[in-house]
Amino acid sequence: MLDALSEKFERILKKLRGQGVLTEDNIAEALKEVRLALLEADVNFKVVKDFLERVREKAIGQEVLKSLTPGHQVVKVVWDELRGMMGGERSGISLASRPPTIVMMVGLQGAGKTTTSGKLARLFKSQGKRVLLVAADPRRPAAGDQLASLGHDLGIDVHRFDQVDASRADVVRICQRGVERAQEQGYDLVVLDTGGRLHVDDELMAELVAVKQAVNPHEVLLVADAMTGQDAVNMAGQFNQQVGLTGVILTKVEGDARGGAVLSIRAVTGQPIKFLGMGEKLDALEPFHPDRMASRILG
Ligand code: GDP
Repeated sequence: MLDALSEKFERILKKLRGQGVLTEDNIAEALKEVRLALLEADVNFKVVKDFLERVREKAIGQEVLKSLTPGHQVVKVVWDELRGMMGGERSGISLASRPPTIVMMVGLQGAGKTTTSGKLARLFKSQGKRVLLVAADPRRPAAGDQLASLGHDLGIDVHRFDQVDASRADVVRICQRGVERAQEQGYDLVVLDTGGRLHVDDELMAELVAVKQAVNPHEVLLVADAMTGQDAVNMAGQFNQQVGLTGVILTKVEGDARGGAVLSIRAVTGQPIKFLGMGEKLDALEPFHPDRMASRILG
């Protein structure tokens, strides 16, 4: 994960750490390399620019240059700013004061929405919560089958629409029914696995807005494929503008050497990354901690 970026940072910062005295020129040289490393990692251009400005300002401050370990101080500044770029504090799932907590999953087809719904359900089940999964993509019965099979493996109930009654195939109705069932039957958490498309389109957005208005979820989480880099960032911006998100879950991060989405999605959209998908298995979900990620990148 983010290996290519991490290797570059390690090289650049090792040089800095090793220097007993630092001049503004030394710092400028190192920051040039940092800039290149971030751009090669596919981090959003403006995010890189803002980041470097903040680092430069702090790093050439007198306290840093005059300190006994200026190299280490600069590395600390870079760490702080990387952490800040990814949101600073950890942002988890906010649970409703009165259950059930309603979590609406959105995203494009293939991003890993259904798998991630299963992963989240598993996580909350392991914390002793009763979870209901709702298959809310009547256009793709295969997606419902996939969720049903996940639910079966995990021992988690799955709510599906009644195929006999076509009127119930309406996505809004399915989600409303799922939430009503969760309320009536005392579930702690209900996860709505909404339908995706291959591309963002108006119909999908309108459908998601309608679901959101109907069920008033506590969380609206975009599931996006980290490997798609800036496409994931742009898509997150669109979903946030049109539907309104409360956070993002990036998937396939274990195979993402570059890290452009992980590093820029928060700064561009204002939405926090809440979890990382780290593999196809259902336990491959990690809470996202900006500080730990910054440490991982700096090596
Ligand atoms: P959906 O269309 O968005 O519901 O996507 P699916 O949940 O069906 O996932 C699409 C593919 O991505 C499947 O083969 C999943 O196993 C895979 N997938 C999902 N999350 C991850 C992840 O974090 N890492 C990897 N490597 N594969 C993932």
